[in-house]
Amino acid sequence: MIENYVRVSSIKEALEIKALHGAKAGYLAGGTDINRLNTLHPYAVVIDLQDLGLNRIDENEKGFELGSCVTFQQALDWKSVPADFSEALRYAGSRTLRNSATIGGNIACGLPDSYLLPFLTAAKVRLILADIGSEELEHEESVPIREFTEHPEMYRDSLIVRVVFDKPGRFAASQRFSKSVQGAVTLTAGFGADFSKTDARPLRNVRIALGGTGVGSHEGGTVYRLPDIESALSEGVIQTASELQEVVSKATFAVSDFTGSAEYKKYLAGTAVAQLYSRGLEKAGRGSEL
Ligand SMILES: Cc1cc2nc3c(=O)[nH]c(=O)nc-3n(C[C@H](O)[C@H](O)[C@H](O)COP(=O)(O)OP(=O)(O)OC[C@H]3O[C@@H](n4cnc5c(N)ncnc54)[C@H](O)[C@@H]3O)c2cc1C
Repeated sequence: MIENYVRVSSIKEALEIKALHGAKAGYLAGGTDINRLNTLHPYAVVIDLQDLGLNRIDENEKGFELGSCVTFQQALDWKSVPADFSEALRYAGSRTLRNSATIGGNIACGLPDSYLLPFLTAAKVRLILADIGSEELEHEESVPIREFTEHPEMYRDSLIVRVVFDKPGRFAASQRFSKSVQGAVTLTAGFGADFSKTDARPLRNVRIALGGTGVGSHEGGTVYRLPDIESALSEGVIQTASELQEVVSKATFAVSDFTGSAEYKKYLAGTAVAQLYSRGLEKAGRGSEL
């Protein structure tokens, strides 16, 4: 139960309060998860971020940056929002939820059925994190999102300040499967790569991220990548969409539940990743293989 609410006026103040109270305290952004029934974040102390100016969207020559408190709806309403990002933002089907839920809060939640993590992992975004050092000095560091999600224990106290999209030529997209837009997810798949129009090797830096396939289980209880397949694709060992479909289906960890059988989820993962790969190839002008 929330016993103490603090509305901070600087990042330093937020970090100091977090350091003082440790796991009992949490940052309050949109509050959609913190205030949710049976929340996984039952903080005694909440640190409200709304006065920190973290709701800006800035474009620059390398791409764009979102303040961590930019809401899903704000990002959707932004005139330059990339179409594939927009699609991921719409996975949060309720406009009421989108009006409050923030991008930073979604990343920090790290849910296995996360709306955004498969897409953001595929896009290879970077996070600007603020922390307080041993001498109580505030500092910022830039961390790849995969590092943040793979080592949550290292970033438990960090404040996400900005989300940086700095790879404008990169293809990244995701697909989400559920019976209805607000229903429980069966699977979300993200695929991203740097496609070349001319190189003999058509793609590099492949990322495949899957979520929702094993909600509630230990092994699949997070958004996870398929690094061996990413390397095989980058190195040309896997060359066609149908080969990709087969290996992704095999490698997907899935648990049967009310949203679908494990076999069905594996099938969906394979087809989704193969289709996204073909879309990327097409976009790069290299033809579709499906
Ligand atoms: C009915 C319902 C269904 C939902 N379904 C889904 C779903 O399918 N998929 C999904 O991904 N989410 C789902 N959510 C959860 C939630 O709405 C989103 O994940 C949302 O994006 C969280 O953002 P927020 O700003 O509301 O976070 P908050 O509730 O404010 O915070 C959530 C957590 O993130 C931390 N946090 C917030 N901002 C920062 C920051 N800048 N730096 C570090 N830590 C921070 C908080 O301390 C807290 O631990 C659902 C919520 C509801 C109510």
